[in-house]
Amino acid sequence: MKDLEKIVALAKRRGFVFPGSEIYGGFAGTYDWGPLGTELRLNVVNEWTRAMKEHYNMAFLDSSIFTAAKVWEASGHVSGFSDPMVVCNKCHTKFRADHLLEAIGVVADEKMTEPQINILFDEYRAKLQCPSCGKKDFGKVVAKNLMATATLGKFNEEDQDVYLRAETAQGIFINYKNVLDSGFFSVPFGIAQVGKAFRNEISPRQFLFRKREFEQMEMQYFVPPKEAVAAYEEWKVERMSFYDRLGIKKEKLRWKQHENLVFYAKDAWDIQYEYPFGWNELEGVHYRGDYDLSQHQKFSGVDMTYFNEKTKERYIPHVIETSTGVDRTILMLLSDAYDEDEMNGEKRVVLKFKPKIAPVKVAVFPLLKNKPELVAKAREVFKLVRGSVDGMVMFDDNGNIGKRYRRQDEIGTPYCLTIDFDTLNDDTVTVRDRDTGKQERIKINELPEFLKNKIK
Ligand code: ATP
Repeated sequence: MKDLEKIVALAKRRGFVFPGSEIYGGFAGTYDWGPLGTELRLNVVNEWTRAMKEHYNMAFLDSSIFTAAKVWEASGHVSGFSDPMVVCNKCHTKFRADHLLEAIGVVADEKMTEPQINILFDEYRAKLQCPSCGKKDFGKVVAKNLMATATLGKFNEEDQDVYLRAETAQGIFINYKNVLDSGFFSVPFGIAQVGKAFRNEISPRQFLFRKREFEQMEMQYFVPPKEAVAAYEEWKVERMSFYDRLGIKKEKLRWKQHENLVFYAKDAWDIQYEYPFGWNELEGVHYRGDYDLSQHQKFSGVDMTYFNEKTKERYIPHVIETSTGVDRTILMLLSDAYDEDEMNGEKRVVLKFKPKIAPVKVAVFPLLKNKPELVAKAREVFKLVRGSVDGMVMFDDNGNIGKRYRRQDEIGTPYCLTIDFDTLNDDTVTVRDRDTGKQERIKINELPEFLKNKIK
């Protein structure tokens, strides 16, 4: 946990992540991206989008957060999307009953009904201590629905509350027919979407891992039933290799199969990452059969079948789903990149991001800020580099060079350029590498090519 605390502190200190509504005491389960977090988020979303765009048959979508209540009735979220909540009678803190049981080595089946989990909870009640106050005095377990509600479009008391989407996937399912009918896609094809989702998580915790407002990157691949198993295996391989593209350490990732499948799922595996608090879900890659489209066909009355002109077959396509979170990806990137080492006899904190993921690609320093000729030259180099590097370039003339290096190391900037007195004579700058500390002199007119090759 110590590592997580360090990461949280660094994220706040350097402007990656701020607690939501902080000046008013905070708002649980929300965080705001700071200037560097915004860059990091964009890099993650762009990389995911790029990976999806490598498929010729991938459609993109941006569906509404607010959707008709029926959507969530059809999907099963209204009746069945809940977590078992239990409250400590002494300090009134809310907990997930399954998490309390898990902490003492008891696994509660996700599908358990409220009475069933109460029986299990009662069996171990004497052993269960409140993590907040240490007392052993919990109330009854209640199945708490996770859907967040709002009053959009509600003007009279009798009008119904509406739901904020709990996942982006339903926006994809309800538009599958529209995308198909637009005439540019035929089965098999995928629909990909990045967007916010909202869940009334009982106890948001572990920093970005469990938020109430978070962002998903989801893809639903619609495939003929006969081809689904093969497609599922391909998507599993592809999704794991995506994390290699982000530069994540291989030994920190693993597959975990779901032990208790929901009744409609054909197979379900999660990609887990070893976060500072242990192995946990990063992405789900699930073979969902035709459940989702069938449900929407049943509830909406709209025909969701697909007719293959060549084979003359009519069927509801099966769905392979890949569903990952921007927030968990960023928490993973920060955890994976965080390092403390020594450089030139000095301790430093460094984020060893892969250059293409780093929020700042290059920092440009004039050696001294009170020498106008150095500053002017540095500004010139800054302008040149900004125009040629894809990503954020920073100008920094604050403090001595050592301090500036430390500051850039802390945010993971892979290259720092220093403009010194030699630059004025020979038009070269020093390029310092974040990981090795090695410095080399490069001609200014060769910088764009040099940096482009390093960062791509
Ligand atoms: P968990 O079991 O950890 O609650 P889940 O199985 O409910 O997660 P899914 O419904 O499969 O999660 O959501 C897909 C992805 O969305 C997850 O793999 C995760 O990356 C992200 N995600 C889900 N809930 C949250 C949350 N509360 N905060 C941040 N990201 C989330």
